[in-house]
Amino acid sequence: MSAIYIQVKQTTTIAHKLRRITFFSPDFTAIPDLFAGLHIKLFFKKENQPALTLPTKEKGRVRWPEPHLKPIARTYSIYHFDALKKELTVDFVLHDAAGPACDFARNAKIGDEIGFAGPGPVSLVNRQCEHFIFAADLSALPAISSVIDSLGAQPHLQVFLELEEPTSAAALIAEYLPNHAKNITITQQTFMPTNTLLDTVMSSITALKIEQTSITIAGEHESVVTLRDAVRQLGAPKDNVYAVPYWRHNQDEETYHQTRHNVMDS
Ligand SMILES: Cc1cc2nc3c(=O)[nH]c(=O)nc-3n(C[C@H](O)[C@H](O)[C@H](O)COP(=O)(O)OP(=O)(O)OC[C@H]3O[C@@H](n4cnc5c(N)ncnc54)[C@H](O)[C@@H]3O)c2cc1C
Repeated sequence: MSAIYIQVKQTTTIAHKLRRITFFSPDFTAIPDLFAGLHIKLFFKKENQPALTLPTKEKGRVRWPEPHLKPIARTYSIYHFDALKKELTVDFVLHDAAGPACDFARNAKIGDEIGFAGPGPVSLVNRQCEHFIFAADLSALPAISSVIDSLGAQPHLQVFLELEEPTSAAALIAEYLPNHAKNITITQQTFMPTNTLLDTVMSSITALKIEQTSITIAGEHESVVTLRDAVRQLGAPKDNVYAVPYWRHNQDEETYHQTRHNVMDS
């Protein structure tokens, strides 16, 4: 699908550091019923650009605008899609360091326009499994919440949530995982997951049958790579593991982008 222009229809502050934005476009066509957490690309105008120019797709190949017109691209997740109203909802982390996507979300007003492409086909879970493990931080909480909702009644799951501000946990759980509070473990996000996260998550996984366990790991680079490597050592089947680093501490997307590809290919 070529990139399309989408307009802000509604904005809501979800929590201290999260803003929900619902976008409308008559051109949303390729979003499947099972949209939960699917990856999408959003495009933002650079400050000095008079207008937003989007990439196009010709004969299956993406054609980018000239370098001076090229937009800023960021990856986000579908939190909700209403096919009848043609409304797409994305939840944005309002992180402290400035960034084009986060700054857009912080200041977004009804009618503002950005670009959209996708979604990609990658599923965040293996729905055939009996058990589900989720390890996520704030950037992946909207995605995993949407996925968990799509699993139906009472899935057998454990959620490990890494938060920079653990005091915000109760409000986040009430918003995103209200029916699963007893299955959630909160850890402090320290960017040193071997000290804080690894043992907690792995002791849960080793208590389960690995072939029957779907493992979803998403969030900051260090945590994702550390957990993914440990899960691989347990011999988890490839189809059961989704491990995608969503961002990297102290690196913007332009700096981190290639490393993410290397991580995904390794
Ligand atoms: C598949 C996928 C799905 C994603 N889904 C979502 C989603 O639904 N919601 C969402 O909020 N994010 C999501 N992300 C993460 C998002 O793409 C990154 O956080 C991105 O860097 C934000 O762009 P930016 O322009 O705001 O900041 P950038 O310009 O990329 O970075 C500026 C600074 O902010 C820091 N930073 C970036 N993200 C965070 C963060 N989350 N917390 C703290 N500091 C940060 C960087 O380290 C850097 O120092 C997803 C990423 C991927 C790969």
